[in-house]
Amino acid sequence: MEETPYDQIDELFAKIRLLLLKVRQIDPTTAEDMRSLLAQLEDYVESQFIEYLKLENQESKKMQAYCMKCRAKSEMKNAKSMTMKNGRPATQGICSVCGTRMFRMGKSKK
Ligand SMILES: [Zn+2]
Repeated sequence: MEETPYDQIDELFAKIRLLLLKVRQIDPTTAEDMRSLLAQLEDYVESQFIEYLKLENQESKKMQAYCMKCRAKSEMKNAKSMTMKNGRPATQGICSVCGTRMFRMGKSKK
């Protein structure tokens, strides 16, 4: 399984929690304060990570189009809806592989 940034952050939190156990033996009051701060931080990171996942989902919804240069279907970057001269919707963007402009009939799924 691929490691997400959140896994790395989670690992750091686990390390801090371990250190916190040591601090608690020396200074229980400070350890308690740190623990509540850590909990707030974890909540914050988690909410940020949910936002990040949402963004990533949007990315994966990016549309595919046929690239004339690659001679294959590839992901369309910077997809923009446009209207053709005949009034029908189309989507224009850039091939994520070679950077060539690509074009596709139909609206972008945004
Ligand atoms: Zn291409």
